[in-house]
Amino acid sequence: MEEDEGIGVHLEVPDMLVTIEKCMHCGACVGTCPENAIYLNDVLLEFNSDCTRCGRCVRMCPVGALKLEAKA
Ligand code: SF4
Ligand code: SF4
Repeated sequence: MEEDEGIGVHLEVPDMLVTIEKCMHCGACVGTCPENAIYLNDVLLEFNSDCTRCGRCVRMCPVGALKLEAKA
C-alpha cells in the first residue's frame, strides 16, 4: 500500500522549526495552543503570527516534530 502522506507547512513564526516528516497529524499541538495559533488540516500545518512562543506545543508534540529556536 502506497500513500502519499506529505503535507505542507506554513510558518509565520520565524523561530518555530517544524520537522514535517515526523508529524503524524495527531492534533495535540492545536489543542494545547492558548492563542489558537496553530491550524491543521489534511494537507497543511500552519503556525500563525498569534503565536507567543510559549512552547506548549513543543512540549506536547509526541514525536518531537516541533522546536522553538532560542532567541539570540
Ligand atoms: S508556542 Fe505556544 S502560542 Fe506558539 S503555537 Fe505553540 S502553543 Fe501556540
Ligand atoms: S503535536 Fe506534533 S505530531 Fe501532533 S499534529 Fe502537532 S506537530 Fe504533528
